Amino acid sequence: MSKPLIVITGASSGIGAAIAQRLSAQGHPLLLVARRVERLQALALPHCVCEQVDITDRSAFDAAIAKAEALYGPVDGLINNAGVMLLGQIEDQQPSEWQQMFDLNVVALLNGMQAVLAPMKARNSGTIINISSIAGRKTFADHAAYCGSKFAVHAITENVREEVSASNVRVITIAPGAVETELLSHTTSSSIKEGYEAWKQVMGGALAPDDVARTVAFAYEQPQGVCIREIVLAATKQA
Ligand code: NDP
Repeated sequence: MSKPLIVITGASSGIGAAIAQRLSAQGHPLLLVARRVERLQALALPHCVCEQVDITDRSAFDAAIAKAEALYGPVDGLINNAGVMLLGQIEDQQPSEWQQMFDLNVVALLNGMQAVLAPMKARNSGTIINISSIAGRKTFADHAAYCGSKFAVHAITENVREEVSASNVRVITIAPGAVETELLSHTTSSSIKEGYEAWKQVMGGALAPDDVARTVAFAYEQPQGVCIREIVLAATKQA
């Protein structure tokens, strides 16, 4: 196996599954983590370790990385993709919902970066790609806590990039607009969900998961000496 190991969080659906398929087709061995391990296994990718991990559990995430590294060598790429979007208004949203978003979208992303950074720095090579959102650059109605978590992803990613750039490690933000996935389905307010679907109709549809996967692969496959710091992509008709 000549290509190095890449870890993808949240590969059981949507964007993460598309990234896994694309990077696997390029010959990378993969560690895929999510809670629905059967969905990871159903991708049926070669040279692939599928682990049932809730990535808010740092020790379980670390153990999965150690298992994959024993098979395929050191992690060269970490795609911090797992995320949850629970839309609502702060006045009546359940505090457990913003806790869940910050635990996953922000704290688990920090933990993942910490788990791989020291060995990457020691090897003077490695790439971390964090999936943020256009909601990490501008605000939208009913998105306050989600936008807060994704603004944090933008800030953390750029700040860590500065921290580790001298060690030749790349840290990259990919910020998609609306993508057709399961993401919206977890929001509890049916009126907010209907409004979001109507907004997508007006703009003629959202991106497909593979549109984001192609972008991730493009950033990753640049020579190690080239760091694409941020890519923002959206359906052309998204305002
Ligand atoms: P999906 O809901 O389809 O995928 C989310 C993934 O995260 C699933 O694989 C899910 O797996 C995983 N996940 C959720 N909670 C956990 C957890 N505790 N531990 C491990 N994995 C977890 O949504 P998308 O593919 O759209 O989302 C991927 C990323 O893209 C997210 O960060 C999202 O914020 C971002 N994004 C999405 C956009 C969109 O419009 N869809 C736009 C911009 C950014 P499982 O449930 O099996 O654990």
